[in-house]
Amino acid sequence: MQANRTTSDDPTEEPETALETARKQLRAAAGHLDIDPDIVERLRHPTRVQRVTVPLERDDGSVEVFAGYRAQHDAVRGPYKGGLRYHPGVTEEECIGLSMWMTWKCAVMDIPFGGAKGGVVVNPKELSTDEKERLTRRFAQELRDIVGPTRDIPAPDMGTDAETMAWFMDAYSMQEGETQPGVVTGKPPIVGGSYGREEAPGRSVAIVTREACDYYDYGLDGTTIAVQGFGSVGANAARLLDDWGATVVAISDVNGAAYDPDGIDTDAIPSHEEEPEAVTTYATNTIGNDELLELDVDVLVPAAVGNVITAENAPDVQADVVVEGANGPTTSAGDAVLAERDVPVIPDILANAGGVTVSYFEWLQDINRRKWPKERVDEELESEMLSAWNDVRAEYDDRDVTWREAAYVVALSRLAEAHDARGLWP
Ligand code: GLU
Repeated sequence: MQANRTTSDDPTEEPETALETARKQLRAAAGHLDIDPDIVERLRHPTRVQRVTVPLERDDGSVEVFAGYRAQHDAVRGPYKGGLRYHPGVTEEECIGLSMWMTWKCAVMDIPFGGAKGGVVVNPKELSTDEKERLTRRFAQELRDIVGPTRDIPAPDMGTDAETMAWFMDAYSMQEGETQPGVVTGKPPIVGGSYGREEAPGRSVAIVTREACDYYDYGLDGTTIAVQGFGSVGANAARLLDDWGATVVAISDVNGAAYDPDGIDTDAIPSHEEEPEAVTTYATNTIGNDELLELDVDVLVPAAVGNVITAENAPDVQADVVVEGANGPTTSAGDAVLAERDVPVIPDILANAGGVTVSYFEWLQDINRRKWPKERVDEELESEMLSAWNDVRAEYDDRDVTWREAAYVVALSRLAEAHDARGLWP
Protein backbone atom coordinates (compact mmCIF):
# COMPACT_ATOMS: atom_id res chain seq x y z
CA MET A 1 0.00 0.00 0.00
CA GLN A 2 1.22 3.47 -0.75
CA ALA A 3 0.89 5.73 2.27
CA ASN A 4 -0.39 8.58 0.16
CA ARG A 5 -2.82 6.53 -1.88
CA THR A 6 -6.06 8.39 -2.34
CA THR A 7 -9.35 6.54 -2.44
CA SER A 8 -12.52 7.75 -4.02
CA ASP A 9 -14.92 9.48 -1.68
CA ASP A 10 -17.85 8.98 -4.02
CA PRO A 11 -20.33 7.10 -1.79
CA THR A 12 -22.03 5.47 -4.77
CA GLU A 13 -18.93 3.79 -6.17
CA GLU A 14 -18.87 -0.01 -5.89
CA PRO A 15 -17.34 -2.51 -5.38
CA GLU A 16 -15.09 -1.16 -2.69
CA THR A 17 -12.47 -2.67 -0.41
CA ALA A 18 -12.75 -2.71 3.38
CA LEU A 19 -10.06 -0.01 3.41
CA GLU A 20 -12.07 2.22 1.09
CA THR A 21 -15.20 1.74 3.22
CA ALA A 22 -13.27 2.45 6.42
CA ARG A 23 -11.75 5.63 4.98
CA LYS A 24 -15.07 6.90 3.66
CA GLN A 25 -16.63 6.31 7.07
CA LEU A 26 -13.74 8.11 8.79
CA ARG A 27 -14.12 11.09 6.50
CA ALA A 28 -17.89 11.25 7.01
CA ALA A 29 -17.54 11.10 10.80
CA ALA A 30 -14.71 13.64 10.92
CA GLY A 31 -17.03 16.06 9.11
CA HIS A 32 -19.23 16.11 12.20
CA LEU A 33 -16.42 16.98 14.59
CA ASP A 34 -14.07 19.85 15.11
CA ILE A 35 -11.00 17.61 14.98
CA ASP A 36 -7.45 18.42 13.91
CA PRO A 37 -7.19 17.40 10.20
CA ASP A 38 -3.63 16.17 10.85
CA ILE A 39 -5.00 13.61 13.30
CA VAL A 40 -7.60 12.49 10.74
CA GLU A 41 -4.81 12.13 8.17
CA ARG A 42 -2.77 9.99 10.60
CA LEU A 43 -5.84 7.81 11.24
CA ARG A 44 -6.26 7.17 7.49
CA HIS A 45 -3.04 5.09 7.56
CA PRO A 46 -1.87 2.08 9.54
CA THR A 47 1.22 2.42 11.76
CA ARG A 48 2.66 -0.73 10.25
CA VAL A 49 1.77 -3.66 8.02
CA GLN A 50 3.86 -6.80 8.38
CA ARG A 51 3.82 -9.14 5.40
CA VAL A 52 5.17 -12.59 6.09
CA THR A 53 5.68 -15.82 4.19
CA VAL A 54 4.34 -18.92 5.90
CA PRO A 55 5.74 -22.18 4.50
CA LEU A 56 3.72 -25.27 5.42
CA GLU A 57 4.69 -28.92 5.18
CA ARG A 58 1.53 -30.67 3.97
CA ASP A 59 0.59 -34.09 5.33
CA ASP A 60 1.93 -35.72 2.11
CA GLY A 61 5.40 -34.20 2.70
CA SER A 62 5.13 -31.48 0.02
CA VAL A 63 5.69 -27.85 0.96
CA GLU A 64 3.27 -25.03 0.16
CA VAL A 65 3.91 -21.35 0.78
CA PHE A 66 1.21 -18.94 1.99
CA ALA A 67 1.18 -15.17 2.44
CA GLY A 68 0.27 -13.73 5.83
CA TYR A 69 -0.32 -10.20 7.11
CA ARG A 70 -0.67 -8.26 10.31
CA ALA A 71 -1.88 -4.68 10.00
CA GLN A 72 -1.41 -2.52 13.11
CA HIS A 73 -3.47 0.61 12.75
CA ASP A 74 -3.26 2.78 15.86
CA ALA A 75 -2.04 2.24 19.43
CA VAL A 76 -2.59 5.65 20.99
CA ARG A 77 -5.00 4.20 23.58
CA GLY A 78 -3.18 0.91 24.26
CA PRO A 79 -1.74 -2.24 22.65
CA TYR A 80 -2.94 -3.21 19.17
CA LYS A 81 -5.86 -5.66 19.29
CA GLY A 82 -7.76 -7.64 16.70
CA GLY A 83 -8.40 -10.97 15.06
CA LEU A 84 -6.51 -13.26 12.71
CA ARG A 85 -8.48 -14.69 9.82
CA TYR A 86 -7.73 -17.69 7.62
CA HIS A 87 -9.55 -17.09 4.36
CA PRO A 88 -8.64 -17.24 0.66
CA GLY A 89 -9.87 -13.64 0.24
CA VAL A 90 -7.48 -12.10 2.80
CA THR A 91 -5.56 -9.15 1.34
CA GLU A 92 -3.29 -6.48 2.74
CA GLU A 93 -5.94 -3.81 2.07
CA GLU A 94 -8.63 -5.82 3.79
CA CYS A 95 -6.44 -6.28 6.88
CA ILE A 96 -5.78 -2.52 7.00
CA GLY A 97 -9.48 -1.66 6.67
CA LEU A 98 -10.44 -4.20 9.33
CA SER A 99 -7.65 -2.95 11.63
CA MET A 100 -9.14 0.55 11.39
CA TRP A 101 -12.55 -0.83 12.44
CA MET A 102 -10.85 -2.43 15.47
CA THR A 103 -9.42 0.96 16.48
CA TRP A 104 -12.89 2.53 16.36
CA LYS A 105 -14.47 -0.50 18.06
CA CYS A 106 -12.09 -0.37 21.05
CA ALA A 107 -12.51 3.40 21.30
CA VAL A 108 -16.32 3.30 21.14
CA MET A 109 -16.25 0.69 23.95
CA ASP A 110 -13.65 2.79 25.82
CA ILE A 111 -11.34 -0.24 26.05
CA PRO A 112 -7.62 0.58 26.42
CA PHE A 113 -6.57 -1.08 23.16
CA GLY A 114 -5.78 0.08 19.64
CA GLY A 115 -6.67 -1.69 16.38
CA ALA A 116 -5.07 -4.48 14.38
CA LYS A 117 -6.09 -7.29 12.06
CA GLY A 118 -4.23 -10.02 10.26
CA GLY A 119 -4.59 -13.27 8.46
CA VAL A 120 -3.27 -15.89 6.11
CA VAL A 121 -4.42 -16.25 2.51
CA VAL A 122 -5.54 -19.84 2.79
CA ASN A 123 -8.73 -21.85 2.59
CA PRO A 124 -8.92 -23.48 6.04
CA LYS A 125 -11.39 -26.08 4.71
CA GLU A 126 -8.53 -27.48 2.63
CA LEU A 127 -6.24 -27.98 5.65
CA SER A 128 -6.19 -31.01 7.95
CA THR A 129 -6.12 -30.26 11.69
CA ASP A 130 -2.40 -31.07 11.81
CA GLU A 131 -1.71 -28.76 8.86
CA LYS A 132 -3.70 -25.95 10.47
CA GLU A 133 -1.68 -26.39 13.65
CA ARG A 134 1.67 -26.29 11.80
CA LEU A 135 0.57 -23.25 9.79
CA THR A 136 -0.50 -21.44 12.97
CA ARG A 137 2.73 -22.21 14.83
CA ARG A 138 4.83 -20.95 11.92
CA PHE A 139 2.65 -17.85 11.51
CA ALA A 140 3.10 -17.15 15.25
CA GLN A 141 6.85 -17.46 14.83
CA GLU A 142 6.84 -15.06 11.85
CA LEU A 143 4.85 -12.49 13.84
CA ARG A 144 6.78 -13.00 17.10
CA ASP A 145 8.67 -9.71 16.99
CA ILE A 146 5.58 -7.56 16.64
CA VAL A 147 3.03 -9.32 18.90
CA GLY A 148 3.02 -9.77 22.68
CA PRO A 149 0.77 -9.16 25.70
CA THR A 150 1.70 -5.47 25.85
CA ARG A 151 2.23 -4.92 22.11
CA ASP A 152 -0.33 -6.60 19.90
CA ILE A 153 -2.84 -9.23 21.02
CA PRO A 154 -4.48 -11.36 18.29
CA ALA A 155 -7.82 -13.17 18.66
CA PRO A 156 -10.05 -15.48 16.60
CA ASP A 157 -11.77 -14.22 13.46
CA MET A 158 -13.10 -15.90 10.29
CA GLY A 159 -11.57 -19.38 9.88
CA THR A 160 -9.80 -19.37 13.27
CA ASP A 161 -11.05 -20.43 16.70
CA ALA A 162 -10.08 -21.16 20.31
CA GLU A 163 -7.90 -24.11 19.28
CA THR A 164 -5.99 -21.90 16.82
CA MET A 165 -5.38 -19.40 19.63
CA ALA A 166 -4.11 -22.20 21.94
CA TRP A 167 -1.53 -23.20 19.29
CA PHE A 168 -0.54 -19.59 18.72
CA MET A 169 -0.12 -19.00 22.46
CA ASP A 170 1.87 -22.22 22.85
CA ALA A 171 4.23 -21.41 19.95
CA TYR A 172 4.85 -17.89 21.28
CA SER A 173 5.30 -19.12 24.87
CA MET A 174 7.74 -21.88 23.89
CA GLN A 175 9.94 -19.32 22.14
CA GLU A 176 9.72 -16.88 25.05
CA GLY A 177 10.60 -19.63 27.53
CA GLU A 178 7.60 -18.84 29.72
CA THR A 179 3.83 -19.24 29.49
CA GLN A 180 2.33 -16.00 28.20
CA PRO A 181 -1.44 -16.50 28.06
CA GLY A 182 -1.98 -12.77 27.47
CA VAL A 183 -0.44 -12.86 23.96
CA VAL A 184 -3.78 -13.85 22.43
CA THR A 185 -7.42 -13.88 23.54
CA GLY A 186 -10.23 -16.25 22.62
CA LYS A 187 -8.30 -19.24 23.99
CA PRO A 188 -9.96 -22.31 25.54
CA PRO A 189 -10.74 -21.52 29.23
CA ILE A 190 -8.37 -24.28 30.41
CA VAL A 191 -5.35 -22.34 29.11
CA GLY A 192 -6.35 -18.83 30.16
CA GLY A 193 -9.39 -18.24 27.97
CA SER A 194 -12.39 -16.42 29.41
CA TYR A 195 -15.74 -18.01 30.00
CA GLY A 196 -18.28 -16.36 27.73
CA ARG A 197 -15.73 -15.17 25.12
CA GLU A 198 -17.00 -17.48 22.39
CA GLU A 199 -20.61 -16.27 22.63
CA ALA A 200 -19.70 -12.63 23.40
CA PRO A 201 -20.06 -11.05 19.91
CA GLY A 202 -23.47 -12.71 19.52
CA ARG A 203 -24.45 -11.65 23.04
CA SER A 204 -23.57 -8.02 22.32
CA VAL A 205 -25.55 -8.15 19.05
CA ALA A 206 -28.52 -9.42 21.09
CA ILE A 207 -28.11 -6.72 23.76
CA VAL A 208 -27.86 -3.96 21.15
CA THR A 209 -30.87 -5.37 19.25
CA ARG A 210 -32.86 -5.36 22.51
CA GLU A 211 -31.85 -1.73 23.22
CA ALA A 212 -32.61 -0.66 19.63
CA CYS A 213 -36.07 -2.27 19.84
CA ASP A 214 -36.64 -0.46 23.12
CA TYR A 215 -35.49 2.84 21.58
CA TYR A 216 -37.94 2.44 18.71
CA ASP A 217 -40.71 1.31 21.12
CA TYR A 218 -41.11 -2.28 19.86
CA GLY A 219 -40.19 -4.33 22.92
CA LEU A 220 -38.58 -7.66 22.04
CA ASP A 221 -41.72 -9.73 22.57
CA GLY A 222 -43.08 -10.64 19.19
CA THR A 223 -40.44 -8.65 17.29
CA THR A 224 -39.55 -10.54 14.12
CA ILE A 225 -35.88 -11.02 13.34
CA ALA A 226 -33.94 -12.45 10.38
CA VAL A 227 -30.32 -13.43 11.01
CA GLN A 228 -27.91 -14.03 8.14
CA GLY A 229 -25.14 -16.41 9.21
CA PHE A 230 -25.38 -19.12 11.87
CA GLY A 231 -21.77 -19.15 13.06
CA SER A 232 -20.45 -17.87 16.35
CA VAL A 233 -22.01 -14.40 15.97
CA GLY A 234 -25.32 -15.25 14.27
CA ALA A 235 -26.19 -18.42 16.20
CA ASN A 236 -25.49 -16.92 19.62
CA ALA A 237 -27.39 -13.73 18.77
CA ALA A 238 -30.37 -15.67 17.33
CA ARG A 239 -30.56 -18.05 20.30
CA LEU A 240 -30.38 -15.30 22.92
CA LEU A 241 -32.98 -13.19 21.13
CA ASP A 242 -35.18 -16.29 20.82
CA ASP A 243 -34.76 -16.89 24.61
CA TRP A 244 -35.59 -13.26 25.34
CA GLY A 245 -38.95 -13.49 23.53
CA ALA A 246 -38.22 -12.34 19.98
CA THR A 247 -39.51 -14.35 17.01
CA VAL A 248 -36.55 -15.42 14.88
CA VAL A 249 -38.17 -16.08 11.50
CA ALA A 250 -35.04 -16.79 9.42
CA ILE A 251 -31.47 -17.98 9.89
CA SER A 252 -28.96 -19.00 7.24
CA ASP A 253 -25.57 -20.34 6.26
CA VAL A 254 -23.71 -20.36 2.92
CA ASN A 255 -26.15 -22.88 1.44
CA GLY A 256 -29.34 -20.91 2.12
CA ALA A 257 -31.82 -19.97 4.81
CA ALA A 258 -34.40 -21.62 7.03
CA TYR A 259 -37.62 -19.56 7.07
CA ASP A 260 -40.71 -19.86 9.26
CA PRO A 261 -42.94 -16.81 9.76
CA ASP A 262 -44.16 -18.34 13.07
CA GLY A 263 -40.60 -18.54 14.43
CA ILE A 264 -37.76 -21.04 14.22
CA ASP A 265 -36.62 -23.15 17.18
CA THR A 266 -33.03 -21.88 17.04
CA ASP A 267 -31.75 -24.62 19.38
CA ALA A 268 -33.01 -27.32 17.03
CA ILE A 269 -30.65 -26.23 14.23
CA PRO A 270 -26.91 -26.79 14.80
CA SER A 271 -24.65 -23.75 14.63
CA HIS A 272 -21.67 -23.78 12.26
CA GLU A 273 -19.43 -24.83 15.18
CA GLU A 274 -21.77 -27.72 16.13
CA GLU A 275 -22.22 -29.03 12.56
CA PRO A 276 -20.85 -26.96 9.67
CA GLU A 277 -23.26 -25.73 6.99
CA ALA A 278 -26.24 -27.69 8.33
CA VAL A 279 -28.99 -25.03 8.38
CA THR A 280 -30.75 -26.11 5.19
CA THR A 281 -30.41 -29.81 6.12
CA TYR A 282 -32.46 -29.29 9.28
CA ALA A 283 -34.85 -26.65 7.90
CA THR A 284 -38.43 -27.52 6.94
CA ASN A 285 -38.83 -24.51 4.64
CA THR A 286 -35.89 -22.91 2.86
CA ILE A 287 -35.30 -19.64 0.99
CA GLY A 288 -32.16 -18.08 -0.50
CA ASN A 289 -29.75 -15.80 1.34
CA ASP A 290 -30.72 -12.90 -0.94
CA GLU A 291 -34.39 -13.38 -0.06
CA LEU A 292 -33.52 -13.40 3.66
CA LEU A 293 -32.03 -9.91 3.34
CA GLU A 294 -35.26 -8.65 1.80
CA LEU A 295 -37.76 -10.21 4.28
CA ASP A 296 -40.40 -7.96 5.80
CA VAL A 297 -39.13 -8.24 9.40
CA ASP A 298 -38.67 -5.78 12.25
CA VAL A 299 -34.93 -6.40 12.56
CA LEU A 300 -32.38 -7.71 10.06
CA VAL A 301 -29.05 -8.95 11.47
CA PRO A 302 -26.42 -9.57 8.76
CA ALA A 303 -23.94 -11.70 10.73
CA ALA A 304 -22.10 -13.63 8.01
CA VAL A 305 -19.60 -11.83 5.77
CA GLY A 306 -18.84 -8.31 4.56
CA ASN A 307 -20.46 -6.32 1.71
CA VAL A 308 -23.83 -8.12 1.61
CA ILE A 309 -26.04 -5.00 1.70
CA THR A 310 -25.19 -2.96 -1.38
CA ALA A 311 -26.70 -0.17 -3.48
CA GLU A 312 -28.35 -2.89 -5.52
CA ASN A 313 -30.32 -4.65 -2.77
CA ALA A 314 -30.60 -1.85 -0.15
CA PRO A 315 -33.77 -0.45 -1.84
CA ASP A 316 -35.39 -3.86 -1.26
CA VAL A 317 -34.44 -4.25 2.41
CA GLN A 318 -37.81 -4.20 4.19
CA ALA A 319 -36.55 -4.47 7.78
CA ASP A 320 -37.29 -1.50 10.04
CA VAL A 321 -33.87 -1.71 11.70
CA VAL A 322 -30.57 -3.31 10.63
CA VAL A 323 -28.13 -4.46 13.34
CA GLU A 324 -24.70 -5.32 11.91
CA GLY A 325 -23.39 -8.59 13.37
CA ALA A 326 -20.59 -9.13 10.83
CA ASN A 327 -17.75 -6.69 10.28
CA GLY A 328 -18.60 -4.40 7.34
CA PRO A 329 -21.78 -6.08 6.03
CA THR A 330 -23.02 -2.80 4.49
CA THR A 331 -21.13 -1.03 1.71
CA SER A 332 -20.96 2.79 1.78
CA ALA A 333 -23.37 2.93 -1.15
CA GLY A 334 -25.76 0.49 0.55
CA ASP A 335 -25.50 2.57 3.72
CA ALA A 336 -26.34 5.75 1.81
CA VAL A 337 -29.47 4.13 0.36
CA LEU A 338 -30.62 2.93 3.79
CA ALA A 339 -29.94 6.38 5.31
CA GLU A 340 -31.92 8.01 2.50
CA ARG A 341 -34.81 5.61 3.25
CA ASP A 342 -34.52 6.35 7.01
CA VAL A 343 -33.71 2.74 7.89
CA PRO A 344 -31.56 2.87 11.02
CA VAL A 345 -28.36 0.80 10.83
CA ILE A 346 -26.76 0.01 14.20
CA PRO A 347 -23.10 -0.33 13.21
CA ASP A 348 -20.76 -3.30 13.63
CA ILE A 349 -18.26 -1.34 15.74
CA LEU A 350 -20.91 -1.14 18.46
CA ALA A 351 -23.11 -4.18 17.85
CA ASN A 352 -20.47 -6.94 17.67
CA ALA A 353 -18.01 -5.26 20.06
CA GLY A 354 -18.83 -7.81 22.78
CA GLY A 355 -16.09 -9.98 21.26
CA VAL A 356 -13.27 -7.58 21.86
CA THR A 357 -14.79 -6.47 25.16
CA VAL A 358 -14.65 -9.99 26.58
CA SER A 359 -11.19 -10.28 24.98
CA TYR A 360 -10.24 -7.35 27.19
CA PHE A 361 -11.72 -9.17 30.22
CA GLU A 362 -9.73 -12.26 29.19
CA TRP A 363 -6.51 -10.25 28.96
CA LEU A 364 -7.17 -8.77 32.41
CA GLN A 365 -7.70 -12.29 33.79
CA ASP A 366 -4.47 -13.47 32.11
CA ILE A 367 -2.24 -10.70 33.37
CA ASN A 368 -3.75 -10.94 36.87
CA ARG A 369 -3.70 -14.77 36.83
CA ARG A 370 -7.27 -14.75 38.18
CA LYS A 371 -10.28 -16.31 36.49
CA TRP A 372 -13.72 -14.69 36.47
CA PRO A 373 -16.88 -16.82 36.67
CA LYS A 374 -19.17 -16.69 33.62
CA GLU A 375 -21.78 -14.67 35.58
CA ARG A 376 -19.25 -11.90 36.17
CA VAL A 377 -18.25 -11.84 32.49
CA ASP A 378 -21.90 -11.59 31.40
CA GLU A 379 -22.70 -8.91 33.97
CA GLU A 380 -19.70 -6.77 33.08
CA LEU A 381 -20.37 -7.20 29.36
CA GLU A 382 -23.97 -6.10 29.86
CA SER A 383 -22.80 -3.03 31.72
CA GLU A 384 -20.08 -2.12 29.16
CA MET A 385 -22.54 -2.55 26.29
CA LEU A 386 -25.16 -0.37 27.95
CA SER A 387 -22.62 2.31 28.67
CA ALA A 388 -21.39 2.34 25.03
CA TRP A 389 -24.98 2.21 23.75
CA ASN A 390 -25.87 5.22 25.91
CA ASP A 391 -22.81 7.18 24.73
CA VAL A 392 -23.73 6.52 21.09
CA ARG A 393 -27.43 7.18 21.66
CA ALA A 394 -26.62 10.55 23.23
CA GLU A 395 -24.72 11.59 20.07
CA TYR A 396 -27.51 10.23 17.87
CA ASP A 397 -30.10 12.24 19.80
CA ASP A 398 -27.98 15.42 19.84
CA ARG A 399 -26.85 15.56 16.24
CA ASP A 400 -28.36 15.10 12.80
CA VAL A 401 -26.39 11.91 12.14
CA THR A 402 -26.87 8.20 11.43
CA TRP A 403 -26.18 5.61 14.13
CA ARG A 404 -22.89 4.78 12.40
CA GLU A 405 -21.82 8.40 12.41
CA ALA A 406 -22.85 8.70 16.08
CA ALA A 407 -20.66 5.70 16.98
CA TYR A 408 -17.77 7.15 14.97
CA VAL A 409 -18.19 10.52 16.68
CA VAL A 410 -17.82 8.80 20.09
CA ALA A 411 -14.79 6.81 18.93
CA LEU A 412 -13.08 9.62 17.03
CA SER A 413 -13.51 12.12 19.85
CA ARG A 414 -11.71 9.75 22.23
CA LEU A 415 -8.97 9.00 19.71
CA ALA A 416 -8.44 12.64 18.80
CA GLU A 417 -8.25 13.61 22.45
CA ALA A 418 -5.69 10.87 23.13
CA HIS A 419 -3.57 11.86 20.09
CA ASP A 420 -3.77 15.47 21.13
CA ALA A 421 -2.76 14.69 24.73
CA ARG A 422 0.19 12.51 23.69
CA GLY A 423 1.31 14.73 20.81
CA LEU A 424 3.44 13.75 17.81
CA TRP A 425 6.84 12.23 18.58
CA PRO A 426 9.56 13.40 18.07
N1 GLU B 1 -12.23 -10.69 15.59
C1 GLU B 1 -13.10 -10.05 16.53
C2 GLU B 1 -13.61 -8.71 16.01
O1 GLU B 1 -13.61 -8.46 14.85
C3 GLU B 1 -12.51 -9.95 17.91
C4 GLU B 1 -11.24 -9.23 18.05
C5 GLU B 1 -10.61 -9.37 19.42
O2 GLU B 1 -11.23 -9.95 20.32
O3 GLU B 1 -9.48 -8.94 19.56
O4 GLU B 1 -14.09 -7.90 16.76
